[in-house]
Amino acid sequence: MNNVRLIGSRKRIALVAHDNKKKDLIDWALFNKAALSRHELYATGTTGTLLEEKLDRSIRKLLSGPLGGDQQIGSMIAEGEIDLLIFFWDPMETQAHDSDVKALLRLGCAWNIPMATDRASADFIMTSPLMNQDYETIIPDYSTYLQRKI
Ligand code: PGA
Repeated sequence: MNNVRLIGSRKRIALVAHDNKKKDLIDWALFNKAALSRHELYATGTTGTLLEEKLDRSIRKLLSGPLGGDQQIGSMIAEGEIDLLIFFWDPMETQAHDSDVKALLRLGCAWNIPMATDRASADFIMTSPLMNQDYETIIPDYSTYLQRKI
């Protein structure tokens, strides 16, 4: 049977943008400033510093993405400490930390976290009525995997 996790109306949102996508994320965040004010924001180091400056609010900053920030967010997702991921990654450039990028996207999927990887998806998520109400997210059942015989 699947377990569920209750996501409250105040969401814990992780924000990450690759360098060529930072302007996009900042524009998006400014446009959604009022809606975002109802939620807790987390971000990788550089993205967080820029967002703090532009949104004039405090953001829980983790390490810079390539220095471990992506992995910190992945770990928080696995621990149930992040409810939603807005990750504007750059599809046109190889990143030094490509393996971390892949790992973060993989964990978001493994734990059934709503994820937006571009602006249109982020708009759809932000305007969802579920943003301002409780939501029971289904945690995939990994018991068969965990109890496998080796
Ligand atoms: P940064 O990291 O916000 O520290 O630039 C983003 C990333 O994961 O590349």
